[in-house]
Amino acid sequence: MSRIFNFSAGPSTLPLETLQEAAEKLVDYENSGMSLIEMSHRGKQYDAIHSETISLVKEILDVPEDYHVLLLQGGATLQFGMIPLAFLQQGMTADYLNTGSWAKKALNDAQAVGNVNIAWDGADEKYTRTPARDELKLSPDAAYVHICSNETIGGIQFPDFPDTGNVPLICDMSSEIMSRKLPWDKIDMVYAGAQKNLAPSGMALVIIKDSLLQKANKSLPAYLRYDIHADNNSLYNTPPTFVIWMTCLTLRWIKSIGGIDGVAKRRDEKAAMLYGAIENSNGYYMNPVDRASRSPMNVVWRLLNENLEKKFIEEAGKAGLSGLKGHRSVGGCRASIYNAMPVEGVKTLTGFMKTFRENNE
Ligand SMILES: *Cc1c(COP(=O)(O)O)cnc(C)c1O
Repeated sequence: MSRIFNFSAGPSTLPLETLQEAAEKLVDYENSGMSLIEMSHRGKQYDAIHSETISLVKEILDVPEDYHVLLLQGGATLQFGMIPLAFLQQGMTADYLNTGSWAKKALNDAQAVGNVNIAWDGADEKYTRTPARDELKLSPDAAYVHICSNETIGGIQFPDFPDTGNVPLICDMSSEIMSRKLPWDKIDMVYAGAQKNLAPSGMALVIIKDSLLQKANKSLPAYLRYDIHADNNSLYNTPPTFVIWMTCLTLRWIKSIGGIDGVAKRRDEKAAMLYGAIENSNGYYMNPVDRASRSPMNVVWRLLNENLEKKFIEEAGKAGLSGLKGHRSVGGCRASIYNAMPVEGVKTLTGFMKTFRENNE
């Protein structure tokens, strides 16, 4: 076996345990004579995985009783549209914080549906930080406030979730789900595409408070209705059974390494190592992000010029370090060090960075 270190932003590296167990059981699932992904989603064996996945999400994230866990298709992008369709009705305003590329996509979709107030805009500062609570110009009667808690492209993160009082807070956590504890007293809904920290692509994990669920628009086509998904335990139609199975395996793995505490410890170790390597490079590697807003999941840096960046990425690839090219919209380098990236991977990367610098200074 020759696995390399994959720093790709998504789809991204998965725990080896997840891949191995899926591979082992793919053809004949627990003596059923067929694969889990060939079975009815209404059968006993699939149902066990479906239920376990939902209970593991609740257990690992300590989700309170009055929230539903939903497993939906369409990725995080469908949530960009589903949220305003469900909660931004005529005469209402929704507050959006523009912290980068993903927040912007979410707010563009909301603008296609209804009235949006941009409560904070980081564009002028090139999206290098997340705002403090007292900088937000929130509307008093907003239908909800939307944030992207970790900007995958810009490499910034909200260190704390803003307190929005009685206005529901909805949060895109696609690139950091299952990496931090959640303050449920502040959060009414989180959602995340599966392909960064959980599974292959093809699903969004949604966790939604019942009080928000009750406000969902009921005059929409069935698939766009959160209440229908909640009433049917995410089995209104055929769910993405393969992605859910893989999610289940990843959640078991998270539990086995100590749940969120175990993940957070590894997260901090990896982030400290990589930011340390950038800081201690005498300006050879440059991270543009405000210190307090640094993402522990997506770390971005530049080199002196684009030719050197190209060389860095090429040579890293030859050294078994893949996926380090920054997003095409911003250039530079980026390492996505999601939950499944082993500490060893970051150690190898920082070792490579040191050698590259010595050879190319
Ligand atoms: C990747 C990503 C998305 C888009 O997810 P899809 O599942 O591809 O729709 C949305 N938001 C954030 C923060 C992301 O990182």
